[in-house]
Amino acid sequence: SGARVRRARNTKLPQYLERGIDVKFSDVAGLGKIREELEEIVKFFTHGEMYRRRGVKIPGGILLCGPPGVGKTLLAKAVAGEAGVNFFSISASQFVEIYVGVGASRVRALYQEARENAPSVVFIDELDAVGRERGLIKGSGGQERDATLNQLLVCLDGFEGKGEVITIASTNRPDILDPALVRPGRFDRKIYIPKPGLIGRIEILKVHARKKPMAPDVDYMAVASMTDGMVGAELANIVEIAAINMMRDARTEITTDDLIQAAQIEERGMLDRKERSPEMWKQVAINEAAMAVVAVNFPDLRNIEFVIIFTLLYFVTVCFVVVVLCRQSLLDHITVQIAPRAADELWYGEHQFSTIWAETADNARSAARTFVLGGLSDKHYGLSDFWVADRINDIDSEALHVLHMCYDRAKEVSLEIMSPLYPGLSGKKSEDSILHQNRNLMDAVVDILVEKKSLT
Ligand code: ADP
Repeated sequence: SGARVRRARNTKLPQYLERGIDVKFSDVAGLGKIREELEEIVKFFTHGEMYRRRGVKIPGGILLCGPPGVGKTLLAKAVAGEAGVNFFSISASQFVEIYVGVGASRVRALYQEARENAPSVVFIDELDAVGRERGLIKGSGGQERDATLNQLLVCLDGFEGKGEVITIASTNRPDILDPALVRPGRFDRKIYIPKPGLIGRIEILKVHARKKPMAPDVDYMAVASMTDGMVGAELANIVEIAAINMMRDARTEITTDDLIQAAQIEERGMLDRKERSPEMWKQVAINEAAMAVVAVNFPDLRNIEFVIIFTLLYFVTVCFVVVVLCRQSLLDHITVQIAPRAADELWYGEHQFSTIWAETADNARSAARTFVLGGLSDKHYGLSDFWVADRINDIDSEALHVLHMCYDRAKEVSLEIMSPLYPGLSGKKSEDSILHQNRNLMDAVVDILVEKKSLT
């Protein structure tokens, strides 16, 4: 009867399998160099033996970090689609049940299915729902979650080194995950997916326009320029709304005007969705003002995309001038991205409750990592270290160090640690922090933003 039970289980249709995944990297736009990192993951499936032979550790799990709608799910599917493997998915909120044991048994079932149908990608959406640091939630709900989390840890460890089942999880809050989850062999690789920039938005609009009858002269730049802050999901929506516009007028082509109108509708929808209280508006205003005020101090920042490309080139051509340029501009860039967080602390003190800065802080973190990987920090790491699991923690802690320095530069200048990076600062007082110095300007910009909601 044991055999019969096993056979019965094997013939059961897998519950968590998503069939017919046909997503490719070309369906995900605006990725820039993130794409290379993901191609590497595909290679773990297609060239797994080669990696093992050369002693390169295959990661147990990959964490895709970023705000909702930037394409994390789409990317996980694209990895499965490109590698031609099965895709199993679950939202971590489904793990968290009131009844003790239910979540844990779902995790077990998920991984059993994935293993029986290997090679496969297991995708866990909203990992933070179950992966929050243990002991933070009191009562039976907390117990259940701990049990689920423990089971997940067991399953992650069970596959270490096999490379047949790779787990990809998404989260908007990598900072609150239980440390046990991000230990080597578990989610030991983090990939930050920021909101798309101007070029990214153009590319995303074009991807979604591929299957639509677009007028030949559509001005994607115009639409991308007016959708600052929007993510892939919203841009995809814009193309859909524009198509409806066209149909309604019984036309055969989607025009720039259709897209612009659709963008306005989408933007109004976004605002309605996020009915903000006056206090919320103020926080948003502080967030935006901090970036603007810090950025005007760094005129070179306009070249930042260019500079990041140059940092990569640096591996090929070690050029002193380029390094100096990169180093400074990248640090400036990081300082701007971390400024909202610093401003939040300046305005609200230790009782911060806003997390509005989380997104830009993510950008700052990934830029700090680029800085370290580009060999620009005092400790010299390079891209090759990135693929070695036990170096990643060193790289992350060095990146954190850089981040802290930039944070202080925005908030308060702490001379001991800043002077090696910014020789020009020595001798200045702590009131020289950029936000401090520009407090009047900050206040003025915040007031206008709260009242008018935008400022050119
Ligand atoms: P997330 O998992 O980050 O919340 P999703 O992957 O679910 O976001 O994105 C929702 C939809 O938005 C996708 O199915 C896709 O249509 C669109 N989308 C998001 N990001 C992108 C992108 N970078 N390129 C193309 N489409 C995107």
